[in-house]
Amino acid sequence: MTRPITAEVAVAYALCPRKAYLLLCTDEQGAPHDYPRILAADQHRNQASYLNGLQPSQGGRSGYVGTLPRRGGGPLSAAILKTSDCEAYCDELTPALRVTAGPGQQYEPTLVSGTHNITHEQQLALLFIGYVLGQLQNVPPSAGALVGLDGRVHKVSLNQRRYAELEGVIDTLRTWMQTPAVDAPPVILNKHCPLCPFRVDCRAKAEHDDDLSLLERMTPKARQRYRDHGIFSVKQLSYAFRPRRRRKPSPKTPVKHIFELQALALRTGKTYLHEPPALVHEQTEMFLDFEGIPDRDIQYLLGLLVSQDGDVSYHAFWADTDADEGQIWHELLTTLAAYPDAPLYHYGQYEARAIKVLLRRYRPAADQLSGRLVNLNAYVYRKVYFPVRSNRLKDIGRWLGVSWATAEASGFDSLVWRHRWDESHDDADKQLLLAYNETDCQALRVLADELTRLRETGAEDPSVDSSTRPKRYATDTGGRLHREFETILRSAHAEYEHSKISLRRDQPATPDDDKRRVGGQPGHPGHYATPPKATKVVQ
Ligand code: SF4
Repeated sequence: MTRPITAEVAVAYALCPRKAYLLLCTDEQGAPHDYPRILAADQHRNQASYLNGLQPSQGGRSGYVGTLPRRGGGPLSAAILKTSDCEAYCDELTPALRVTAGPGQQYEPTLVSGTHNITHEQQLALLFIGYVLGQLQNVPPSAGALVGLDGRVHKVSLNQRRYAELEGVIDTLRTWMQTPAVDAPPVILNKHCPLCPFRVDCRAKAEHDDDLSLLERMTPKARQRYRDHGIFSVKQLSYAFRPRRRRKPSPKTPVKHIFELQALALRTGKTYLHEPPALVHEQTEMFLDFEGIPDRDIQYLLGLLVSQDGDVSYHAFWADTDADEGQIWHELLTTLAAYPDAPLYHYGQYEARAIKVLLRRYRPAADQLSGRLVNLNAYVYRKVYFPVRSNRLKDIGRWLGVSWATAEASGFDSLVWRHRWDESHDDADKQLLLAYNETDCQALRVLADELTRLRETGAEDPSVDSSTRPKRYATDTGGRLHREFETILRSAHAEYEHSKISLRRDQPATPDDDKRRVGGQPGHPGHYATPPKATKVVQ
């Protein structure tokens, strides 16, 4: 039995064509992550309360399945729209105020979501509903609405350009349905993978193939470019690295992440310095890590590790509710004020952005705090290549020996734990979060120590190398051999005979040379062409 194309499949295609193929053309279910499950449960709750709130007096029909009324009639709720190969569920269809063309009744779709903020995927799902609706009423709606968890209605414009893009996707899905490909589209790991139900199998396949997409930041375009040059695996990529002397960087030239060097670091197990880190140890240092809920734009756990003359203490400021955010922020500020000169280390943009918002929200007067922030990622990205696949703090931290209590702990897991704690107030979930946050802070401290060590002793450490001037390790004989080979390589090209400098001898070296005088008849063994005049002085 062929399945219809649904909004879920169309949205999956935008995230990863392989995911769409597995959902549409196979029976594989995978193992859904807890976070999308929580979002789906929130959506169902929100949908139920939205539908309950609709006025039956409006003359609408609920649980609607079938062809659309030609004229008149009120809104339709919980509608299932079907065409020959597409199916879409829509919470509400409201009669369009402005009829663009055609004789019949025209509707606009409303979809109820499970988040406060509206995401790109939700807009795509609404676009798909608009597309199916357009097939039924002959004119696609020009607008729709998304209802957030807080009840806010977000108007979304559905224009022709977006419909045209979607149509291209649906054409591909139709082709798959009619003649399913023998193989699913290739595994290209991407940002969506941690939440995808097929993540375990895809990662195993990528690991088996040593696929280029294992390297974070490897876009599908960059991956294809390497494949066009015959480089298919990370190991092959590692052999493509050529050390080059760095020219003085122009401020306008963006410094790029070097995938070849990242691959080389993985193959050799060494850390490569493209630019030695300039981090200097301070007597007192502080490490910040926040846990928040981006969808609600709140911070519920502000973690701080203070390292003073070798003594380390961890402080956790925990908010039970959204309303407690201001209180924990002020508690953190009070603790920070006790160390006015200590740098505040963090990793990435998250904490810096959160602090900006918190300053604006609770303490409008400008503070010196932002000036004390030091983003450790800026000392790593494009400068230090650890033998790991990504520059995520978890990957680098694990390489440096830090271990998290849960094996694959990630930001999404922390959202799941907080959601569970919100529901049950189970202390075990709170302890998981506190331990996770403390380990993040520890990882920051270990990374700062490592960056300082690399600056101070990296030159002598055999497990650290430079990307521009690799260290050479050879015996005297090996060194001589290397030099000989370098000379051979310098001369080993077809033009060498013409471009080399030759010295003419004053005395003939052999008796035969004596006979080779200038002026002999051409063709005669004694003929010798006049050597060109020296026109260049080389010292
Ligand atoms: S795990 Fe990643 S590569 Fe695999 S189907 Fe899902 S999104 Fe695509």
